[in-house]
Amino acid sequence: MAFARARLTTLPMIPSLFSVTLKPFLHIPHPLPPPMRSLFIPFASLSASQTHHDPSAPSVPSYLRKSSQPWKPMCLYYTQGKCTMMEDPTHLEKFNHDCSRDLQVTNYMSHRICSQNLDYFLVLDLEGKIEILEFPVLMIDANTMDVVDFFHRFVRPSEMSEKRINEYIEGKYGKFGVDRVWHDTAIPFKDVLQQFEAWLIQHQLWGEELGGCLNRAAFVTCGNWDLKTKVPEQCKVSRMKLPSYFMEWINLKDVYLNFYKRRATGMMTMMKELHLPLLGSHHLGFDDSKNIARVVQHMLADGALIEITARRNPDSLEKVEFLFKNRIR
Ligand SMILES: [Zn+2]
Repeated sequence: MAFARARLTTLPMIPSLFSVTLKPFLHIPHPLPPPMRSLFIPFASLSASQTHHDPSAPSVPSYLRKSSQPWKPMCLYYTQGKCTMMEDPTHLEKFNHDCSRDLQVTNYMSHRICSQNLDYFLVLDLEGKIEILEFPVLMIDANTMDVVDFFHRFVRPSEMSEKRINEYIEGKYGKFGVDRVWHDTAIPFKDVLQQFEAWLIQHQLWGEELGGCLNRAAFVTCGNWDLKTKVPEQCKVSRMKLPSYFMEWINLKDVYLNFYKRRATGMMTMMKELHLPLLGSHHLGFDDSKNIARVVQHMLADGALIEITARRNPDSLEKVEFLFKNRIR
């Protein structure tokens, strides 16, 4: 083995943690600079850990049980590099500031992993049907399964009226209680990609001057929609060229089909079949990315080889070649 198995921790195994139902949470607004601070309304009744015991939940293999601490929602200011409350114990008590917390790798998982052809998986799960609203990426080490880093931005639509945006965001994120953080942080798609490129360069995953695909890494998405359809559509709306790092990807559903010989229609099916409980809020992009990353970890632990499944033709960008014979259609 050419790589070290880092961070093999032994954690207390408390079964009750994984038999809780984790309800959508409401994100408590952040304190802002003084003028806006007066808008802060504390939601005394909103708990970040609204959990209840569900005796009917499937039993979870011991290797999947993690920390004994109660589950906490991520601080979505922190994920975007904008948390100003890292010194506040009450805030730290309510919100998670450690992205690897829900994605810890146990000894049992890591000793079954097979050698991969890529070094990193970039798990991506876009949100937004009309325009992209959220761009979350988790960088997973393909050999140790650890979370190396993450990139997360809320995205402000560029072709929508202010009124329409407000309605759209309330409908989409209001139910999770994260509409406020969205409004506080969202930036245009063009700016998101500019920052994302700096992040890729920092991790030596891509070079602006070289162009081309990602270096030793590939995006992992649940389905082809994110990179086949949505990103090119958004690039058109945002009047930009499709960046070269979006030319190929891994559709996890195709890998899942070929490895387990079972069709999975989506993330929820895969998680159910693998007995992985949902963590966080379904359709909050950052939480979905974490859950997809947990499916990736589980498949790696089962010995799956996770490889590129789709590639765009560089001479004719509309054409996508699918590399697996058996695939989800
Ligand atoms: Zn925070």
